Amino acid sequence: MTINLLDFDAAGLTAFFASQGEKPFRAKQVLRWIHRFGQSDFEAMTDIAKSLREKLKTLAVVAPPAIVSDKLSDDGTRKFLFDVGAGNAIETVFIPEDDRGTLCVSTQAGCALDCAFCSTGKQGFNRNLAVSEIIGQLWQANRALGADPAGDRIISNVVLMGMGEPLANFENTVTALRLMLDDNAYGLSRRRVTVSTSGLVPAMDRLRDECPVALAVSLHAPNDALRDKLVPINQKYPLRELMAACVRYLEKAPRDFVTFEYVMLAGVNDSEAHARELLALTRGVSCKFNLIPFNPYPGSPFERSSAPAIRRFAEILMNAGIVTTTRKTRGDDIDAACGQLAGQVKDKTRRTEGRVISIHREKMS
Ligand code: SAH
Ligand code: SF4
Repeated sequence: MTINLLDFDAAGLTAFFASQGEKPFRAKQVLRWIHRFGQSDFEAMTDIAKSLREKLKTLAVVAPPAIVSDKLSDDGTRKFLFDVGAGNAIETVFIPEDDRGTLCVSTQAGCALDCAFCSTGKQGFNRNLAVSEIIGQLWQANRALGADPAGDRIISNVVLMGMGEPLANFENTVTALRLMLDDNAYGLSRRRVTVSTSGLVPAMDRLRDECPVALAVSLHAPNDALRDKLVPINQKYPLRELMAACVRYLEKAPRDFVTFEYVMLAGVNDSEAHARELLALTRGVSCKFNLIPFNPYPGSPFERSSAPAIRRFAEILMNAGIVTTTRKTRGDDIDAACGQLAGQVKDKTRRTEGRVISIHREKMS
């Protein structure tokens, strides 16, 4: 079988070259060619001996997922759709801002966790993405955006907030993270790479020990009764355990706070009482809040909170001294806003099938 070198971080590539009787420094050279210079053609890797280049051509490839569509929003947000085979496609979003460029990367085709307000969750789950498919999104986006290895970085930040739950695809996510941080690859600092999780407590501890990057936690509710409904994984890892895991994470985090993401759903989780309950819940956790106005998608059962409700909610948190930002909705004209990424998922959980039936039922009744 042909080996895809995009599946390896520095350690993996070193082991690969060792297995071929080659010196470890080859790994560093090839890593730089592939990731820093965006090169996929071994012939162009000119400081590598001709004989080794020939050998690599027969053994290996540099094969990112192919871009099947590339859409530009009126606000400059750009959404890529990647073919990941067998009828599955995933999405990646580039969000340019004045002082940075953020790439929002997917880690799974679909998501098994089925949060009540999330379009990806509603698609069901197909599979974990390979390392080459996770890092391949960054590799391809860099190329498409015309990154110049000698120039300023176009992608300065990466957030694993696309399709899927990164910590449910732990090994591949961490290998991809290592490449993002590697000076011979993308050289991003740990604080510019953010993992967003719905709260897989044991995996949060592992991430802390193996690769502590900036952490965002999808909170969305101030108590277990409500969170059990909105974020079903809460039934397994309830808030008390989640808050304790956040405190443990902060011991090694590259930033001295956890970012709590909180989707604003009208009449569901957006009252002043909810905000005050959040203050009590998060006491003892050094945190910031990022309020995300709900982004609708076809068939979504919620509505976005009103602007005054969001302002009032933010005020209560801020008056208690918690830095609170409200996420600007970006790219919604191309369905690239948070929670709208659907890609194309061949659901193996048969969840979507059940859903179609229930929609038919609603129509019939
Ligand atoms: N699975 C991870 C990361 C991907 S989702 C997680 O859940 O954290 C990135 C963020 O978008 C999460 O905070 C998620 O809850 C939020 N989100 C999901 N659906 C949304 C929607 N329809 N509108 C606004 N935000 C949404
Ligand atoms: Fe999965 Fe995150 Fe969507 Fe929940 S919000 S279904 S964890 S992608």
